[in-house]
Amino acid sequence: KPSSIIVVGMAGSGKTTFLQQLNAHLHSKEKPPYIVNLDPAVKNLPYEANIDIRDTINYKEVMKQYNLGPNGGIMTSLNLFVTKFDQVLNILEKRAPTVDHILVDTPGQIEIFQWSASGSIISDTLASSWPTCIAYVIDTPRSTSTSTFMSSMLYACSMLYKTKLPLIIVYNKCDVQDAEFAKRWMSDFEEFQQAIVQDEGTSAEGATSGYMGSLVNSMSLMLEEFYRHLDFVSVSSVTGEGMDDFLKAVDSKAQEYENDYLPEVERLR
Ligand code: GDP
Ligand code: MG
Repeated sequence: KPSSIIVVGMAGSGKTTFLQQLNAHLHSKEKPPYIVNLDPAVKNLPYEANIDIRDTINYKEVMKQYNLGPNGGIMTSLNLFVTKFDQVLNILEKRAPTVDHILVDTPGQIEIFQWSASGSIISDTLASSWPTCIAYVIDTPRSTSTSTFMSSMLYACSMLYKTKLPLIIVYNKCDVQDAEFAKRWMSDFEEFQQAIVQDEGTSAEGATSGYMGSLVNSMSLMLEEFYRHLDFVSVSSVTGEGMDDFLKAVDSKAQEYENDYLPEVERLR
């Protein structure tokens, strides 16, 4: 059985570059993946997609025809594509016995995938066929302030909550910025609070009292619980560092899918 990996993340976090590197890495191990591109607006893909939304849907035409802006155009393209997703699934099912990984690239803007019916249909459909996990790609150099870090983690948490799928946090661009700080913040709540105090430039008391302080405290507690349910790896999509760690995390998430996800889906039915 293959695992499907849905790659999400903010625009520019490096989803496409990550898939390119992962693709190259898997090819070098003679385990070529099967790749699905769901970004209708991408100009050039640095890898060869086996299934490409752009083959059947012309995003510029969709914008014109329905009189939409760029985001509406991407969303409508994805909706149109999903109406044919049963065909995609048929193709995937035929190829499934010969591949270990099905990789799914998503549109630049994360909310298009997360907040659309088509995004949910795609992730649910994949998850009902194979072990499926979400790879949440983070732009590490841009997450070094406590406020962006916290926002980013809350977003990842909402992703986990909405899809209920196992989640791997991928700290990308570690050739530019080491992710050690993030690992410490995730494992030690007090260290994170100290960093907040420093970032805010206030006294320890000032940063932890008042309504913001108590909000931050509550969010950190919630995030502690969230961190327990995820794996995180640091990678560079440019140098290829960390790709094996990522694949290991995918294997452990496939196990989690069998042990936790499937029973949970049964229970909620
Ligand atoms: P996407 O919108 O999430 O698909 O992001 P892209 O893959 O298009 O990457 C956005 C930018 O980040 C590009 O300029 C990439 O070259 C750059 N980038 C992606 N991954 C890395 C990385 O690991 N290290 C560095 N230094 N740059 C990266
Ligand atoms: Mg992309």
